[in-house]
Amino acid sequence: MCSPALPPVSGNAQEVLKRYFGYSEFRTGQDDIIAQLLDRRDTLGIMPTGAGKSLCYQIPSLMLEGITLVVSPLISLMKDQVNALTQAGIPSAFINSSLGLDEYRDTLNAAKAGAYKILYIAPERLQRPDISALAEAADIAMVTVDEAHCISQWGHDFRPGYGRIREFIDRLKRKPVISAFTATATAKVREDIVRILRLDNPYILTTGFDRQNLYFEVQRPTDKMEALLGYIRTHSDSCGIVYCATRKAVDEVFQCLTEKGFAAARYHAGLEDWERRKNQDDFLYDRKTIMTATNAFGLGIDKSNVSFVIHYNMPKNIESYYQEAGRAGRDGEKADCILFYHGRDVQINKYLIENSESPAEEQISPEVLREIREHNLELLKQITFYCTTTDCLRSHILRYFGESAGQYCGNCSNCLTQFEKSDITLETRKIVSCVYRLEQRGTQESRARQFGKTMIADILHGSKNAKVLDAGLHTLSTYGIMAEASIRRIREIMEYLIEQGYLAVTGAEYPVVSRTAKSREVIAPGDSFKLEMMLPRSPVPSTLKPAASAAAEAAGQAVDEGLLSRLKALRSRLAKEARVPAYIIFSDATLRDMCQKRPHTTAEFLKVSGVGKAKLEQYGEVFLQSMGTEL
Ligand code: ADP
Ligand code: ZN
Repeated sequence: MCSPALPPVSGNAQEVLKRYFGYSEFRTGQDDIIAQLLDRRDTLGIMPTGAGKSLCYQIPSLMLEGITLVVSPLISLMKDQVNALTQAGIPSAFINSSLGLDEYRDTLNAAKAGAYKILYIAPERLQRPDISALAEAADIAMVTVDEAHCISQWGHDFRPGYGRIREFIDRLKRKPVISAFTATATAKVREDIVRILRLDNPYILTTGFDRQNLYFEVQRPTDKMEALLGYIRTHSDSCGIVYCATRKAVDEVFQCLTEKGFAAARYHAGLEDWERRKNQDDFLYDRKTIMTATNAFGLGIDKSNVSFVIHYNMPKNIESYYQEAGRAGRDGEKADCILFYHGRDVQINKYLIENSESPAEEQISPEVLREIREHNLELLKQITFYCTTTDCLRSHILRYFGESAGQYCGNCSNCLTQFEKSDITLETRKIVSCVYRLEQRGTQESRARQFGKTMIADILHGSKNAKVLDAGLHTLSTYGIMAEASIRRIREIMEYLIEQGYLAVTGAEYPVVSRTAKSREVIAPGDSFKLEMMLPRSPVPSTLKPAASAAAEAAGQAVDEGLLSRLKALRSRLAKEARVPAYIIFSDATLRDMCQKRPHTTAEFLKVSGVGKAKLEQYGEVFLQSMGTEL
């Protein structure tokens, strides 16, 4: 027997959008997906982070008879979504390992009794008998698979538990409609999702991957910490995330920022659960403005006012990069995505990939593991190209995701830098001879004479630092032969030579620059060798673009800053009382729209973007009062 479930809500999709979520218009693709799901057709939505995938299943789940189960990989994601849904007046809950025994049982019973329209659940739970009992009792209208790329070993986040979702669906009395969502668009992953979930004649929609409000930049700072501090000092009123490749790097960056007096928090798998949770909340609740973290942080974090994401190290692949960077500017405001590149990052990532293991609690066979590693090394190559290209960065990303894109976006560091073709034949000869000379001297002295890029740049530039002098390298014939070039420029050219295979980075203990078979072409007698590369016309400034001052640039209209900060203070107070992050009450974009529209009546208040019926009822009065108007 099915329990009486909550009935579908009345009205059409557009009305439901406004009533529950407070928005007047759908974003691209949302209405199409919703219409298909209401028609009970299986659907796969491929949309970039921040595009608004959640509404695509949340709205149909309200309008369908029965309950929707949302399979989601991460606890933080579920909690955040349920918080937001509850605030919007939508009965929902989650089931995962963070619940105590009593809470778990109560939630399950309430779900059986039909108290929710949406229930989030971790994939592993689907195999449990108590969930089968729930499936027996409840009328499951839809199964939504969030972060659906986790189903594919060709995705970047393989979760074998996802492979058993279909088994669960097959056991249900009535086949629910299946909706799957991901921000990963590669063909292999897409095919795997359709095949493994056995989507039936699915409607597949890929929206554009471009996020126009995001500015992209790649920097190659000689001192990353200094570059980071420089950025943060000029953006002290914004909040953002600094991603690092390792726990150690997170700790270092966190410590340094804290010592300099910045309100930073940290997040990585080496911390205790309670500390991770506390730090995450400090960031979500705006008590700390900078989060330093490994990639363990953020999947499903829908903090809407993140205005920069800096990658202190190059990430493993473009998918991860776009997903992590995409956490900036979710509210549609302008935001910066900056990546600090250093050749060493490639080595770190290689090491991490070559030593990667099966995800916790899930076993992957050695052959599959080997295939995954090889595949990941290929993905690493692709992100390295992104970091070293002089073409438009946005176009590079879009093309990677299979979209056609123009050559110029005008909103990335490459488009804003004037590159010119430069003849680097002579510089190349000098650099390669320096590496030769060092190796020769090593042979004479019968000891290794190989060094990293920094030391070689120092020798060529003629630096007088202790390391060079102590090692007697100032007596080399190549010492100081590039005195007129900056260290940065020498490094840029050296990196290019490595990319092009004229030199290589090798070394078991630490990376050293060494010759390759191709090096011989460079120093062969005669002048047949020629080499050109694209170099910035002037030295690259540390950050090309002035800050995306969110307030000023939003919607091209100035707002009353005094009023805005009063509304923000009010929002903080309400958030504290309701024990939810401030953005769950209203996003910055909503407050800004409120300042512009200056509503006087409840009807006007309802016109503000992001104000739905539940929020009007809960917060309309206090906000109207605080704007100095009477109801
Ligand atoms: P995704 O899951 O695709 O990364 P979300 O579903 O978290 O994106 O949505 C990102 C943000 O966009 C959220 O703050 C959400 O409230 C907002 N949003 C979604 N749809 C709309 C819409 N139609 N109009 C305005 N804002 C929207
Ligand atoms: Zn560009």
